[in-house]
Amino acid sequence: MNQWQRQRQSSGWAGGYVEWTEGQVAYLSVVFSWQLQMAYQRAAWYKAQGYFVRAGGPAVACNPDVLSGVAIQSDSGSVKALRRHNPNATFTTRGCIRQCPFCAVPKVEGAFLRELTDEWEPRSLICDNNLLAASVEHFDHVIDRLQESGVQNIDFNQGLDVRLLTLHHAALLAELYNGGQLNRIRLAWDNIETEKQFRQGFEILRSAGVPARKIGVYVLIGFDDTPEDALYRLMTIWHDLKAWPNPMRYQPLDSKCKNEYVASAWTHRELQRYVRYWSNLRYLSAIPFGEFDK
Ligand code: SF4
Repeated sequence: MNQWQRQRQSSGWAGGYVEWTEGQVAYLSVVFSWQLQMAYQRAAWYKAQGYFVRAGGPAVACNPDVLSGVAIQSDSGSVKALRRHNPNATFTTRGCIRQCPFCAVPKVEGAFLRELTDEWEPRSLICDNNLLAASVEHFDHVIDRLQESGVQNIDFNQGLDVRLLTLHHAALLAELYNGGQLNRIRLAWDNIETEKQFRQGFEILRSAGVPARKIGVYVLIGFDDTPEDALYRLMTIWHDLKAWPNPMRYQPLDSKCKNEYVASAWTHRELQRYVRYWSNLRYLSAIPFGEFDK
């Protein structure tokens, strides 16, 4: 288990698959496509026991046929399911305005962003797909409620869209930091073409007073990049910006097996080496990447 996986587990994540029953209904929620075969077995077992089986989650929404013989597809974005995946998690909006080709959100949630009213509860892990695409009024209200609730260790866990980050957003995020409530802001830098926008957004956050050590950056690797491009992004974040890079190996939305996909510019071994090193900087940063596991 690497540093990021340990962090995920210690922050309460169940690991991508949860199931529970309510009366004679069994609910399954599946995040990753490689968990669908196991979910199928569980659904078939519940069905044989006489349960009515409902299944949801991103993996089910992206691959609706896999469980169709044993379960009825249900709402993938339910608060109930999120709480089972992590009791510290919440969301205040659903959906995203973008259509990134590697992402499940547009397929699962549709092309619009919906702001939830006060049915959401303030919790430490904010899991909105794209909170900064919400209206200013909604964003202000979210920050107000987080401040009033006094919730600690706030982590904008699914990433804030750096291309939409304004001085206003940054000032309120800095207020959370100054109030001692902020644990981590996560951004994403998916490809080299967005370097200018990424750096601008990062600088806005820093100039508002958010320290670099409070900023983590998801770095998509193995999609349409090269190892050199990925290394440039990872090293820039770590060495130049002094923030925490988090390599995210691309996984097709219908993968039957985790890490089976290897893009043409990469090898499986090189992808593994990148993830192992850059996910474990707390332990490995004394070793230059070029010297690591040659
Ligand atoms: S901005 Fe984020 S949530 Fe929206 S489609 Fe792209 S990767 Fe997915």
